[in-house]
Amino acid sequence: MKINNNYINIKSLDTSFIGKLVRISGIVISVSKSISKPIKFHLRCSKCMHEKIIKSKNGLSGNIIPRYCDNPDVDPNDRCPVDS
Ligand SMILES: [Zn+2]
Repeated sequence: MKINNNYINIKSLDTSFIGKLVRISGIVISVSKSISKPIKFHLRCSKCMHEKIIKSKNGLSGNIIPRYCDNPDVDPNDRCPVDS
C-alpha cells in the first residue's frame, strides 16, 4: 500500500474520491451516513416499451418521472394510459 502524506482539504472532496482512502486534517465534529442518489434514469413505458433517459442532479426529488408516454410513433387516438 502506497501512502501519500499530502492532506486533502475537506472542501476539495468530490465524487472522484469515492472508494479511495483520503486523509483530512482537522477535528471531526459530526458524522452522518452518505446517501446515494441516482443521476440518470432509464424509463420504459409498460404498454409500448418506448424508452426514455432522464438525467437529474437531485435524484428523485421533484416530479421528474413523466406521467404520460411521449412515444412519437404511437397513434394519437390510441395513446398509452397515464403512469404506464
Ligand atoms: Zn407508451
